Amino acid sequence: METRSNQHTSIEPNDPYCNSLTAYSRFKTREVKIGDVALGGDKPIRVQSMTTTDTMDTAATVAQSIRMIEAGCEYVRITAPSLKEARNLENIKQELRAQGYTTPLIADIHFTPNAAELAARIVEKVRVNPGNYADKKKFQLIEYSDAQYEAEIERIAERFTPLVRICKEYGTAMRIGTNHGSLSDRIMSRYGDTPLGMVESAMEFLRICRAENYHDIVLSMKASNTQVMVQAYRLLVATMLKEGMNYPLHLGVTEAGDGEDGRTKSAVGIGTLLEDGLGDTVRVSLTEEPEAEIPVARALVERYTNRKDHAPIPALKQLPYDPYVYSRRESITVGSFGGANVPRVIADLSHMESITPAVLSAVGYNYSVPLDKWNIGDLACDAVYVGAKEVDFELPGTLRLIEDSNVWKNRPRREHVLPLFNRDEFFQEGGSVGSVCLVNTRTEDLDESLVQMLKNTANAVLVLSSDNKHRMPAMRRALCTLIGSGVNNPVVIRREFNDLDADRLLLRAATDAGALLLDGMGDGLWLSGGAQVSHRSLNSFSFGILQATRTRISRTEYISCPSCGRTLFDLQETTAMIRSRTDHLKGVKIGIMGCIVNGPGEMADADYGYVGSGPGRITLYRGQNVVRKNVVTEEAVDALIDLIREDGVWVEPVVEGIS
Ligand code: SF4
Repeated sequence: METRSNQHTSIEPNDPYCNSLTAYSRFKTREVKIGDVALGGDKPIRVQSMTTTDTMDTAATVAQSIRMIEAGCEYVRITAPSLKEARNLENIKQELRAQGYTTPLIADIHFTPNAAELAARIVEKVRVNPGNYADKKKFQLIEYSDAQYEAEIERIAERFTPLVRICKEYGTAMRIGTNHGSLSDRIMSRYGDTPLGMVESAMEFLRICRAENYHDIVLSMKASNTQVMVQAYRLLVATMLKEGMNYPLHLGVTEAGDGEDGRTKSAVGIGTLLEDGLGDTVRVSLTEEPEAEIPVARALVERYTNRKDHAPIPALKQLPYDPYVYSRRESITVGSFGGANVPRVIADLSHMESITPAVLSAVGYNYSVPLDKWNIGDLACDAVYVGAKEVDFELPGTLRLIEDSNVWKNRPRREHVLPLFNRDEFFQEGGSVGSVCLVNTRTEDLDESLVQMLKNTANAVLVLSSDNKHRMPAMRRALCTLIGSGVNNPVVIRREFNDLDADRLLLRAATDAGALLLDGMGDGLWLSGGAQVSHRSLNSFSFGILQATRTRISRTEYISCPSCGRTLFDLQETTAMIRSRTDHLKGVKIGIMGCIVNGPGEMADADYGYVGSGPGRITLYRGQNVVRKNVVTEEAVDALIDLIREDGVWVEPVVEGIS
């Protein structure tokens, strides 16, 4: 379990980071003009994406931009690694305008002030990375005296001010986009790779803009680690509030990966912030075609259109925990729930016609008839809820069964079977409810008498759900009541969906449960879906959400960049190939990065890195250190596996049916 120190000095745990913790209210930012699509203020939350084509290939970049725009993309970002690409933005823009597309363009800049200064005269917005705009990263930890640090800031101001003045003159907006993985050596040496370092990195650049009276600024605090990302955005807003600023926020999780994992991570990070009214534009970074990002971003933001009319939630002036540092809510151990146990996964099989060994294969348990043995997978749930259904076969020893209490009471007691009480039944029993019991309640029913009853029932696990439209904050409020009342029973987060397809269900579950888990709340996760979503998917989503919040690791983690005009190999194909060979390495983090210019910095805390270093060439990393340079692509995946093997981290994959 990860606990990060923020060393945040000026922001206190009670300092606010949003308008309200209980009533949906969008944080009011200043409006920034970006071409004819303004951002912030009362404008809708915008969605955007980035091209993956070579910026010098005008036709391909224009064609891809059009596909993105037609999918609903409101700003198109294009990389400009050097002057020649910056110059070609003119051709791309002209061609798009000639075809009737007025969508604002954004130039993405790393390392090259001259490209930024040219691009700022052509496109509607430039994005700079304060970690590398004026600094080359050498991964050196230097002790700076205050005077040396000041001198560095002056050097940055000299490099950066010309761009600010050009933006001001041309009416060009700017994003100061901090990345957790590419903080400058200067920031790293003073703050470490912390959320505070990320905020300070942006603030250094922001102060220069403000000194020039330039305010068309958007800020971002991206990280691949969702805990760090959320803490950094909160800290940024808290800092802005203290200093009387309100620049709009661009939300994103970097290097989120592809498919289900990429969507889960993005929803956890972005959704958590949107729930608290933060965010003016969203970019979901997937290692897929950029147009595939747009429906995901839209699905994330569309939930807030009518959120304001939710049922009231009792106000909460301050949180009983520090929202800027991860720490898990303390709970007692009840059976395998709570205490130091990882959050448990409960699969809901109550709607199955009957429960058979075959049914359990969808939730991680495979029964081998010839061997008369259960094979337990990495994604094996911890308990199954069967309602009133009977299970007439022997279960794997580690699996718990949850039955409705009225059924449980009339069956012989078995150690592995736990009763689920509703509120009234729990009171009727007066707390005498077996060795471990679960109590199902909605936030709306969590009153003082239930709080007291829970407090006096040390073998009860609370299963908490909410009917409020502003569900996550209602759940958080209820959990805060428990913390404030000294109730330390474990709490399972329950979320039921009846009418959503798998794609939407995943995004909503990842937002609603992920936001609580990122704040250290939740000793278990119980997702239920309607007929449209399989048990296998729901089980996989649960483990994915726990992995994305870093509260339970059960899979290999891929930190793959979304690719851009710098990319040196086919990222989607390569990611799929590496995944197919390594996805059994539970807990190993593998960075797959398209270029060596930004890749090593941006893969952040990956254990191994596979980084494009030239056409047909890959450089392999162990952590942040190069171990093999310029391996030919055809041999690179084998070389990566050899490296993992050398470290003793490799295990052979288990082939189904062979034990
Ligand atoms: S790491 Fe990937 S997305 Fe980032 S600049 Fe390099 S190729 Fe582009």
